[in-house]
Amino acid sequence: MDLYGRRITYLRLSVTDRCNLRCRYCMPLQDFTRLPSEAILTYEEIVRICQILTRLGVKKIRLTGGEPLVRQGIMDLIGRLGKIEGIGELCLTTNGVLLKKYAGGLFRAGVRHLNISLDSLRPERFAAVTGRDLFSSVWKSLETVLEMGFSPVKINSVIMKGINDDEIPALAGLTLQHPFEVRFIEFMPIGGKSTWSPEKMMSCREIKERIEEAYGALKPVARSSNAGPANVYGLEGAPGRIGFISPLSNHFCGTCNRLRLTAEGHLRLCLFSDEEINVKEALRKGMTLRELTEFFRQAVRKKPEGYRTGGRRAPSCSRGMSAIGG
Ligand code: SAM
Ligand code: SF4
Repeated sequence: MDLYGRRITYLRLSVTDRCNLRCRYCMPLQDFTRLPSEAILTYEEIVRICQILTRLGVKKIRLTGGEPLVRQGIMDLIGRLGKIEGIGELCLTTNGVLLKKYAGGLFRAGVRHLNISLDSLRPERFAAVTGRDLFSSVWKSLETVLEMGFSPVKINSVIMKGINDDEIPALAGLTLQHPFEVRFIEFMPIGGKSTWSPEKMMSCREIKERIEEAYGALKPVARSSNAGPANVYGLEGAPGRIGFISPLSNHFCGTCNRLRLTAEGHLRLCLFSDEEINVKEALRKGMTLRELTEFFRQAVRKKPEGYRTGGRRAPSCSRGMSAIGG
């Protein structure tokens, strides 16, 4: 529990800062530095942290990155995390490029919740946004995981005005044919070299209006207690759902239940705050289990009540999203 009465039950675990795509809103094309492998947490260190945090009340762990599936031996880590007692949900956020290959292993390890990023249904545009011509690999992964019974399968789409906003109806329309939850995410100014500008940002209110122009009024869907920050709706008769994540136009700090751990082992208590706590150093100093447990208890007390914009028009932070994990 933090100082504001929020129960911290969710850890976003970035396992690498590397990626096989170069999404223009996430990774700067130039001056992009990778962490050397000795700088990132080992699998032993990650498992130890997750064991301590689950004993302290974390129930959901999401692997993210960079692209989590590019880290060598990732299935070994996922298998070990799947065996930790107390983890109710082990989830993965991925760009989907390698997902078809790993889907069987993930299912066996107990992963059921998948978030897959997809900002365009047009192969040429997908290549322009991500820097790689790999739309068909992602689409095949989506078909495979639905067939295998993963659920929920959520599609994360970042909408950028003038870049992919004309595809809002088509992306929402996926929910008419498939049981996906398509989640529209506001473009955020993350990272010192972000390509964000206020003109490119489209609010969830505007996105929702575009969908309603195309399909009629959206019906709200009852939220489950662990629904996260998305407001969820459905189209008439659709097997899927449509979600909206609006960190800029309507922030959700009051119900924030999450911690983030970067690949190099820094705990971030708020996405938009550059303040980090160095867990790797504490681990490598040889702290005992009792000391580490106290270390995390104290760290959670530092979680801010909400983010401050520091006079800017939108909250931002200097680290890029690929280094934080989303
Ligand atoms: N590589 C994986 C993927 O793309 O799903 C996991 C890491 S990625 C950093 C996690 C999420 O952050 C993705 O859904 C991505 O779309 C989102 N993201 C990255 N940069 C963003 C930005 N500037 N604004 C909003 N969402 C962003
Ligand atoms: Fe890679 Fe994901 Fe960032 Fe795209 S959003 S560059 S897939 S980490």
